[in-house]
Amino acid sequence: MASMSAPVLSIVIPVYNEAESLPELVRRVTETVRRIEPSFEILFINDGSRDETIEALRRLCVHDARLRAISFSRNFGKEIAIAAGLDHARGQAVVIMDADLQHPPEAIADFMEKWREGYANVYGVRRDRAIESPVKRAFARGFYRMFASFGDTTLPKGAGDFRLLDRKAVDAMKALGERARFSKGLYSWIGFKSIGVPFDVAERAHGSTKWSFRKLLRFALDGLTSFSTAPLRVWTYVGLFVSFCAFIAAIRFIIEALVYGVTTPGFPTLIVSVMFFSGIQLMSLGILGEYIGRIFAEVKRRPLYIVEERIGDDGAPEAVTRDERSANDGLL
Ligand code: UDP
Ligand code: MG
Repeated sequence: MASMSAPVLSIVIPVYNEAESLPELVRRVTETVRRIEPSFEILFINDGSRDETIEALRRLCVHDARLRAISFSRNFGKEIAIAAGLDHARGQAVVIMDADLQHPPEAIADFMEKWREGYANVYGVRRDRAIESPVKRAFARGFYRMFASFGDTTLPKGAGDFRLLDRKAVDAMKALGERARFSKGLYSWIGFKSIGVPFDVAERAHGSTKWSFRKLLRFALDGLTSFSTAPLRVWTYVGLFVSFCAFIAAIRFIIEALVYGVTTPGFPTLIVSVMFFSGIQLMSLGILGEYIGRIFAEVKRRPLYIVEERIGDDGAPEAVTRDERSANDGLL
C-alpha cells in the first residue's frame, strides 16, 4: 500500500464551475499554506460542474500529490459539498474555503495559530460585506435577524464557511446525519472552544457568483426550518387570536341585532374576512408543507451525495486519526 501519512492540515474547497479560478487558486493556496504547515492536502469537491473544472482538477492533481478531488455525479449544492469534504478530509485540522479567492489563504496562518492554542472551531469573521450588492446584504440582514429571533442556536455575526475545524469538531459534524444542511448553524450547534478571526473579503477573482436568488431562498428556508419550529408553533397563537376576534365580533353582532333589529349590510366585511382567513389557512398549510417536505427527505434516508469519481486518491482510509494510524502501522 502506498502509505502516505495523514497530513496535519486539510484544505477543503467546494467547486462549482470554477475552471478559470483553479490554476491561480492552487498556486496561491499551495504557496501560502506550505509556509504555514508543510504537511497539508487540498481536497476539492467538484459539485457537478458543467464547465472544464473536472479536466482542470485532473491536470492539477497529476502534478501534485498533495491535491485530491472528489467529483459528484451532479450538483448537490455547496452545503452538501462541504459535508463530503469533511467526510473525506484526513487532516488533524480542516480548513473550509471558497474557490474564488474571496477567502484569503493568508488568514489560515491565524487560524492555525488559534488551533495550536487549543481552539477547535476557529471561524473567519468578515470585516465588512461592502463588496456584496445592497440587495443581497439587506436580504442577509433580514435573514439573520429572523434566525436570531426564531432559532435556539446563535450565529456569530459575520461568520461564514471560511473556518478551521479540529478533528474532533469534524467528527462531530460528520455524526450529524441530517440532509437539510445549514452548515453555519451546525458549526455553532456542535459547540467546542470557538473563536472568531477577522479577515477581509476579497473580490471574486474569476467568474461570477454561483448562487441564484432561488438557491439563496432555499438555503434561508433550510436554515430557519432546521433550527427552529417557531414557524410551526406561531399558528397556534394566530389561531387563538383570530378565534378571540371572531368571538368579540359575534357578541357585537348579537347586541346590534337586539338593539337595531336585523340589518342586511355586511357584504364587504364578509368577502374581506373570507379572503383574509383563506390566506392565513393557506400560509399555515404552506409552512406545514415546508416541514413535512423536509421530514420526507429525512425519512427517505438517501445518501447525502453520490461520488462519481475520485481523483488523485491513494486509497488511504479517511478520517483515521494520526494516533490510530501509527498504531495500525505498528501492527503491520
Ligand atoms: N459552490 C458549490 N456548489 C454550488 C454553488 C457554489 O460548490 O452549488 C461553491 C463555489 O464554487 C465556491 C463557493 O461554493 O467555491 C462559494 O460560491 P460563490 O463564490 O459563488 O458564493 P458567494 O461568494 O457569491 O456567496
Ligand atoms: Mg464567492
